[in-house]
Amino acid sequence: MGNSFVLRFQVGGLSLPKIAVAGLAGWATMLSPMRDAKAQLSIRFDYRYDSSGFFDAPERRLVLNAAANEYAFRFGDSLTALTPAGTNSWNALVIRPDTGTMELLSDLLVPANTLTIFVSARPLDADKLGMAEVGGFASRGSPAWQESVRDRGQFGAPKDDFGPWGGSIAFDSNPATRWYFDPDPLSLGDLPSNADDFFSVAVHELGHLFGYGTAASWQLRIDSGFTGRNSVLTFGGPVPVEISGDHWADGTMSRVFGTGLLQEAALAPELPPGSRKFLTDLDIAGLRDIGWSVVPEPGVVWLMILALVLGWLRSRLNHKPGSEAVCTSRFK
Ligand SMILES: [Zn+2]
Repeated sequence: MGNSFVLRFQVGGLSLPKIAVAGLAGWATMLSPMRDAKAQLSIRFDYRYDSSGFFDAPERRLVLNAAANEYAFRFGDSLTALTPAGTNSWNALVIRPDTGTMELLSDLLVPANTLTIFVSARPLDADKLGMAEVGGFASRGSPAWQESVRDRGQFGAPKDDFGPWGGSIAFDSNPATRWYFDPDPLSLGDLPSNADDFFSVAVHELGHLFGYGTAASWQLRIDSGFTGRNSVLTFGGPVPVEISGDHWADGTMSRVFGTGLLQEAALAPELPPGSRKFLTDLDIAGLRDIGWSVVPEPGVVWLMILALVLGWLRSRLNHKPGSEAVCTSRFK
């Protein structure tokens, strides 16, 4: 038996724009094949603190879920369930997204492979569109239980991996913020030029809950730039980060994951009005360095299968010249 009390609140805000990003045409077509994957992780949004009714409209929740799928579809990590029983108990410490005050939730049940995220809105500081806070915890019970509360069974945590139970995200409710909730985040044609894109902000804030600027495994890799192996390979050297260490440096470019399209990284600090951001190769590399297991994109899997089949056919063709009519249309 023992006690553990860890406050793990960290802040990462997304601020308003200074820079412009262009060249977004055609994303919908290029991105759509990526959406067929089976979800690996579940992100459970909890609306109990949505006292202002920011998420009352179901279409807003749908956009939030679409942002969550940028992550959930891509991770193969197994997170242990948090099921308090007997002498094993815990308290989740939450910064309420509607008030900014701390709340203590006794013996919150967190299913396996699931993150619980409390969402709401409140007026945030001048230039902030969203704010994410990784949940804290206080646990009591067996060492194995306390480890599970801390790391969700992620071997190597906290130095080399990250297994949070969840946290909270507050979106800005100042009237000056012109939220746009895109019913189809893959289509860009309808995004108003002066709008603050909710999908992009949600993707960004979720990145903080997955460890950007918040996980020890992120912070320990900041030296002169971020030095995580995958990120360095993707970027071509240590990646510039903001002075606070919460984000990539303003203006850090990469390519939309799985598409080759140039975009400023989603986990850079700013979002120009009228622009949309998806996770980029660099954002995904950073998540891998934090400790997340990224499963191959369906597109990549199909290409591998196609390569195997073509290789097999070629080897057959070498033995039986003239039988090539077999394959042509099946894998289009
Ligand atoms: Zn941020």
